[in-house]
Amino acid sequence: MNEPWYPARAVVDLDAVRGNVRVLRDAAPGAAVMAVVKADAYGHGLLPVARAALAAGATWLGVAQPAEALALRAAGITARTFTWLYAPGAPLAELVSADVDVSVHAPWGVEEVAAAARAAGRPARVHLKVDTGLGRSGVMPDQLPEVVARLVALQGDGLLELVGVWSHLAFADEPDHPTVRGQADVFDRAVEVAERAGAHLEVRHLANSAATLTTQHVHHELVRPGLAVYGLSPVPQLGGPDAFGLRPAMTLEARLATVKAVPAGQGVSYGHAFRTPRDTVLGDVPLGYGDGIPRHASGSQDVPGAPILVGNGPSARMLHVTGRVCMDQFMVDLGPDATERAGDTVVLFGDGATGAPTAQDWADACGTISYEITTRLGARVPRVHLHAEENPA
Ligand SMILES: *Cc1c(COP(=O)(O)O)cnc(C)c1O
Repeated sequence: MNEPWYPARAVVDLDAVRGNVRVLRDAAPGAAVMAVVKADAYGHGLLPVARAALAAGATWLGVAQPAEALALRAAGITARTFTWLYAPGAPLAELVSADVDVSVHAPWGVEEVAAAARAAGRPARVHLKVDTGLGRSGVMPDQLPEVVARLVALQGDGLLELVGVWSHLAFADEPDHPTVRGQADVFDRAVEVAERAGAHLEVRHLANSAATLTTQHVHHELVRPGLAVYGLSPVPQLGGPDAFGLRPAMTLEARLATVKAVPAGQGVSYGHAFRTPRDTVLGDVPLGYGDGIPRHASGSQDVPGAPILVGNGPSARMLHVTGRVCMDQFMVDLGPDATERAGDTVVLFGDGATGAPTAQDWADACGTISYEITTRLGARVPRVHLHAEENPA
């Protein structure tokens, strides 16, 4: 499948991505789906995932940064693409020329987008970001009338089209949280302000993965799921991926680089945070924080580290990171009767169906969210994409 000598790799099943996008389309039947592929598709590989999402019926792609949108265009992807996070001086003219939809999230952005449209010689398609309560980026409601008036005036000059109003939820992962309704109300009033000023909006969008799967009243014309595209549950306290028909796309695996017997009392890895209580066999897994493995996955004498599935086939065993995670590797206590050999497979996380731990298990072990587990995976880990041939070129 890949070089036989790989020390580690992330296998990404694009069939799972396509299936997950279909689940999201079914969850929001009245809305178009924007597959959020920022941060290298949450670590899964920007271009193959973007193509798979489009093949399964997503009609928009969403990325945080302008460079990510331009990377999609450079690869020949022409689907409707939206980008939303930039500071003054961003290459907005390049985005407008490349037919990328852009967000305006602050008053200064209005003039920069207008200047970009002049430079590009064509109107910019603009989505106005409203801070409905997340307290992150976006125009505050009290500034809206002024910003909207300016956008509508520039639209009259032919410099832009105000095609969308959008926002983002603070508690989408707690669907019953009162702020969800509260933000939706602020959002609806912002839309009214835009429409009363003369905007003809094509899309209103507010829903990430969690809201797409749980909160129909915020779907509007467009939903923006990211995490669920990759088959991970955005609401783990309500159910895992299978509760929603999702399948995790990424399997992170490595091959044991060393297997060796050590005596009782052997300190293991930096700081000897673990000391072998008996004669045992240690395995060396060639993945570390230089590859994005959280150092918080480390084990100690009292607390086992993150779970891993060691060995091939039916004899595979669930074990744990032993001692501290290093930059390039971590150790596992295989026990005195280990039969594993160097070269055997270790699965850190996968889709769960094979008995391997999941990215959610790793998130729980490391005190974080599954988003961070896949997204932080480093460039040194090759991504191997399965079933790419079913994507259109
Ligand atoms: C990342 C992001 C999304 C996708 O969120 P998920 O929780 O991964 O579905 C949607 N919208 C914005 C603005 C984002 O930053």
